[in-house]
Amino acid sequence: MIIAERKPLEEIRNMLAGYKRILVVGCGTCVTICWAGGEKEVGILSSQLRLASSKDGSELSIMEAVVERQCEKEMVIEELGDKAPGVEAILSLGCGAGVQTMAELFEEKPVLPALNTTFIGMPEKEGLWVEMCGACGDCFLDRTGGICPVVRCAKGLLNGPCGGTRKGGKCEIDPDKDCAWVLIYHRLERQGRLDLMRKYYEPKNYRAVKRPGKIEALEA
Ligand code: SF4
Ligand code: SF4
Repeated sequence: MIIAERKPLEEIRNMLAGYKRILVVGCGTCVTICWAGGEKEVGILSSQLRLASSKDGSELSIMEAVVERQCEKEMVIEELGDKAPGVEAILSLGCGAGVQTMAELFEEKPVLPALNTTFIGMPEKEGLWVEMCGACGDCFLDRTGGICPVVRCAKGLLNGPCGGTRKGGKCEIDPDKDCAWVLIYHRLERQGRLDLMRKYYEPKNYRAVKRPGKIEALEA
């Protein structure tokens, strides 16, 4: 899932300066799960904006909405088709893909990001999300026991460990984090595949990551 976190209120207020009628839009998928942009967060941010504008005497009318998936045009149109025309700007609590989808649909209006999209990750426990994938475009988890060193090793090493690993299997860069290559070693050991640790992997071909990415289904 995509992980994001909300921008500071002041930054959001600066973006909204000059607009009197806005639509605050959450997304019901990833950012709901990571507590950044769901219905609850839309309500909290809207209340904070109302309070702040009433304190400084600025006029601000806020409409609230949540789209099940902000990155899907049909869902955005269905939910916002009748709400968007009446506002001057749209404040999105979606990830970067959600913001850009809405910006494409409502070209005549500014669509402003209320979140910082941070990484692709998973929930580790309640209230904690960890990065798992950097979308490198050339996945080699088959060789690393399903643990990604591109994002989980502080140096992104494809051939590890680096030699600086601390006692207890912690990373030399950040002693609070496990060395990804120690994790990989133990995983491969459990699977009886330690021979993979002896292989040398060529530097990654980052040309596999074509920007902007586009994937077409084989059978459309
Ligand atoms: S190797 Fe690349 S695609 Fe695979 S998990 Fe790591 S960053 Fe993601
Ligand atoms: S200690 Fe492990 S995780 Fe940290 S930089 Fe070295 S190989 Fe990577």
